[in-house]
Amino acid sequence: MQPMSNSDCIFCSIVAGKIPCIRIFEDDAVLAFLDIGPISDGHTLVIPKAHFRRLHQCSADVLVSVSNCIGRIVQAVVSAVDAEAYNVLCNNGTAAGQLVEHVHFHIIPRNSGDGVFDRWPAYKYQDGQAEEIAARIREKL
Ligand code: AMP
Ligand code: ZN
Repeated sequence: MQPMSNSDCIFCSIVAGKIPCIRIFEDDAVLAFLDIGPISDGHTLVIPKAHFRRLHQCSADVLVSVSNCIGRIVQAVVSAVDAEAYNVLCNNGTAAGQLVEHVHFHIIPRNSGDGVFDRWPAYKYQDGQAEEIAARIREKL
């Protein structure tokens, strides 16, 4: 069970009002604010107010709370900056690029040719490898 708030966590400090943010949206369970280091105009972070480090550690009610508002926030962000498209990104773990250990969803407005994430390093599985990996994943469910 994760604590509701972590005194060492910068996003918990934002939720508590100890560190300022440029607030976009707030309800009982969720806060959205502009990212301080945007990779496109309007880059927004949506966070549960409760402290969970990773997505898979969030309780179901927290994920429901985020799901209930994230679509509305996305459409407002994208429409406000007149973007063509967007990414919603959730980095989990240092190897995946997570710097702040309080789960958060990046809303990143996108436009053609903007150069953001312009490399998607896709490759092909070897014969039988996809089935074998899928079976291993299903065993863990
Ligand atoms: P991640 O690498 O997924 O953990 O992303 C953390 C994000 O938090 C980065 O994009 C930072 O720019 C952003 N960030 C860190 N501190 C603040 C802050 N005080 N206010 C707003 N955004 C922040
Ligand atoms: Zn936190």
